[in-house]
Amino acid sequence: IKPVHVVGGGLAGSEATWQLVSKGIPVVLHEMRPVRGTDAHLTDGLAELVCSNSFRSDDADNNAVGLLHKEMRELGSLIMESADANKVPAGGALAVDRNEFSAYVQDKLENHPLVTVSREEVTGLPPAEWGNTLIATGPLTSPELAAAVHEATGADALSFFDAIAPIVYKDSINFDIAWFQSRYDKGEGSDYINCPLTEEQYYTLIRELNEGGKTEFKEWEKDTPYFDGCLPIEVMAERGPETLRYGPMKPVGLTNPRDPEVKPYAIVQLRQDNKLGTLYNIVGFQTKLKYAEQTRIFKTIPGLENAEFARLGGLHRNTFINSPVVLDDQFRLKSVPRLRFAGQVTGVEGYVESTAIGLLAGRFMAAERLEKAFTPPPVTTALGALMGHITGGADAETFQPMNVNFGLFPPLEQRVKKKERKQAYTQRAFAAFDAWKADLSF
Ligand code: FAD
Repeated sequence: IKPVHVVGGGLAGSEATWQLVSKGIPVVLHEMRPVRGTDAHLTDGLAELVCSNSFRSDDADNNAVGLLHKEMRELGSLIMESADANKVPAGGALAVDRNEFSAYVQDKLENHPLVTVSREEVTGLPPAEWGNTLIATGPLTSPELAAAVHEATGADALSFFDAIAPIVYKDSINFDIAWFQSRYDKGEGSDYINCPLTEEQYYTLIRELNEGGKTEFKEWEKDTPYFDGCLPIEVMAERGPETLRYGPMKPVGLTNPRDPEVKPYAIVQLRQDNKLGTLYNIVGFQTKLKYAEQTRIFKTIPGLENAEFARLGGLHRNTFINSPVVLDDQFRLKSVPRLRFAGQVTGVEGYVESTAIGLLAGRFMAAERLEKAFTPPPVTTALGALMGHITGGADAETFQPMNVNFGLFPPLEQRVKKKERKQAYTQRAFAAFDAWKADLSF
């Protein structure tokens, strides 16, 4: 069989390679280190963990990422196998010895008879003679390849930066205070959730934003300019106490149904973030405030006192494509279908999620090469929910990389008490996954 080419020997590329060779398909894996390094990798090892050594919670019964671990193990994930073989004590989390972890993956791949590891940088779109190729070059994709992908996907479809506003679970918002309404009742008239602030609450918030602890830019992030449309909220607040009241927090075109006569001094708006309507982002609140400061400060916004965050805000260098627009439902580039993407570059976030997309992409690719069909996992599983985020579930306009979380899953069919909800999601997922796996023909 003709080999498949995989570009990027990180977490996703290594996993995809393993899935392909496990189906008997030869792979040429192109990894640019050590010929060319990145600003975060320190070694030449395949599947290097660039920062923390944690794969987060391993609790499949109560946690979405733990559930993802379980599903990946059941599909023969090499990354999970290595993590399990090299784990270090970390309470309920799965943490690993990073050097042993990477060495295990490298050893398995380099010594596999169907794998050829080619240490070279791919500096443009992979050539057509390679045939169907997987690009898994991660958040720090080298600039030449990023430029070529930029050209192939179109102007607005590749980001070099993620400017993330915090995302809140809708069911943690207090609707005794907040209300649904679009400014001037545009669109459906009720697309946004609004939280009203009095004069005193507004100036307290501005003070907190100015004084709250910020995370520092890493040395290599410092040169990355802010884009006009995504200034951090605290940078806007610093420009003057009124800036936000005339910007994202302007109180015009909105009426509080509980107190129509009193005009709020400022309004924080939240916009729907996924098709399911379970997640809402705080409009304009992209931020470099420290995580603990974000939870403390944003909970002072009326209506968000008990907010639970699906993800907190942040601003990092990160190369990712606008997957909901440019990829098809098997992660192929619609404009150049011989190119498939996997890993963080598709708009998922984190080691586990990137690996999960590598696993699925490897399976799709193997099926394609052998002219078989691979049925994607149902949306009620962690793999299916994560896949849904990048192939259509997310709002393309505000698309930002995402960790797996229960907000990406379809809502439960029946009402379940809050403290039993996580288990209701995972129980439903176990059943759906088992049924799907039992039916898998390939
Ligand atoms: P990577 O693991 O980065 O792999 C991509 C590979 O492609 C690299 O080996 C790179 O050398 C190679 N490559 C790039 N361009 C080319 C090219 N042109 N030709 C050939 N090879 C190429 N996630 C967490 O879960 N926890 C964390 O603590 C965490 N911290 C992070 C800190 C930083 C500074 C960064 C940038 C990211 C962090 N992440 C973290 C995200 C994490 O890096 C990713 O989730 C994960 O590594 C992505 O896997 P991937 O396979 O998509 O990319």
